Amino acid sequence: MAGVNDQSRIARNPLAAPVVAMIGGGQLARMTHQSAVALGQTLRVLAADPVDPAAQVTPDVVIGAHDDPGSVRRVAAGADVVTFDHEHVPPQLLRELEDAGVAVRPRSSALIHAQDKLVMRRALAEIGAPVPPFTGIDTLEDVRRFHAEQDGAIVLKSARGGYDGRGVWMPDSLAEAERIAGEQLSAEVPMMAEARVPWVRELSAMVARSPFGQGAVWPVVETVQRDGICAVAVAPATGLDDELRSAVQATALRLAEHLDVTGVMAVELFEVIGADGRPGVLVNELAMRPHNSGHWTMDGAVTSQFEQHLRAVLDYPLGSTVAIAPVTVMANVLGAPEAPAMSMDERVHHLGARFPHARVHLYGKSERPGRKLGHVNVLADPGVDPDDADQVAAVRSVAELAARWLSHAEWGDGWDPHSGARVGDFDR
Ligand code: ADP
Repeated sequence: MAGVNDQSRIARNPLAAPVVAMIGGGQLARMTHQSAVALGQTLRVLAADPVDPAAQVTPDVVIGAHDDPGSVRRVAAGADVVTFDHEHVPPQLLRELEDAGVAVRPRSSALIHAQDKLVMRRALAEIGAPVPPFTGIDTLEDVRRFHAEQDGAIVLKSARGGYDGRGVWMPDSLAEAERIAGEQLSAEVPMMAEARVPWVRELSAMVARSPFGQGAVWPVVETVQRDGICAVAVAPATGLDDELRSAVQATALRLAEHLDVTGVMAVELFEVIGADGRPGVLVNELAMRPHNSGHWTMDGAVTSQFEQHLRAVLDYPLGSTVAIAPVTVMANVLGAPEAPAMSMDERVHHLGARFPHARVHLYGKSERPGRKLGHVNVLADPGVDPDDADQVAAVRSVAELAARWLSHAEWGDGWDPHSGARVGDFDR
């Protein structure tokens, strides 16, 4: 890039810290920047808009689209490594960067497994990882065949471009399945179908892997989705069978190695009860970037997923993934149907008065229904038993009350700040 740029870079980078460029300026980039600051770095981001969450906080911003070759090249110029806040960058563009000698982490050949659900399912099946029965859908005949094979219990998915439940359909009848698949196929959306899994809960295993090959795994968490959006994560998953936990962590590490992942990866799983009555898992999805199910690590683990992602893509030694509380619950602040009249800042004040131990993370976004505006982490006291469902539920209820207060300006339990009623219930 131009000398002027280099000069200004040196002026504000006296530590000669490496430059990590992240494609996408959302909340994941914003929180990665937070960790970059602590490491003496500044995250460079490619943001679509100056008001994007990360563009508000880092001085090193390129404004442009993630699928515009010129913008992607501009953000990569002079960076030590290029990484991602979402997986929607066209693979061809990434291969061009790689061919030009740019360190893209994860590499395009690994990232494709997080970009295309059908490619991911096929690779996992080949490796021998447990996955639900699945098929590619090219014609309506494929839908009819698979629907019959699975006794009608199917899920249709767009293989690419979906997120937060968009691009996932649960048809109640063959006619509905045919209609959905027909509409999507005629819009040239690549489609797949899989068996509808009678899961008992959803789990997530976060791992990190460096180019050197070091791996690290955090405790396995339970995630709770509402309307296809992650609403709550409980770390660790309550009462998870010891053997299953070890197997899940080993599988996640093995997948990271097999797929040559660099950076952090979330492995989303379904917990199921096998024919023998014992718990098992099926892999649902992979995300090769910081992930909502890892937000709890910002306060609840020695090393957060964001710092770990930086360490991993820069090939530093990885940080400890040990939890620092017996339980941490993360609850997302999801925009209310109607934005409350009370300002967010005032809501934060009130929350602090009621729950001084709640850790608030806001993304700097305007309020819209269902939009991820932030999250709250609540750490349990040292004496709490992570396998005692009632004790965990009490921690979870504080996190959910706090998150709902921030989005709705309503206390879900009817607490009245003026009378102070029920304040003792949640005192710690
Ligand atoms: P996204 O890419 O939007 O996260 P997912 O494939 O993870 O989409 O699906 C979103 C949610 O839909 C999952 O968290 C789960 O609750 C449900 N779901 C997805 N696939 C299945 C399945 N095969 N069986 C049952 N539920 C599923």
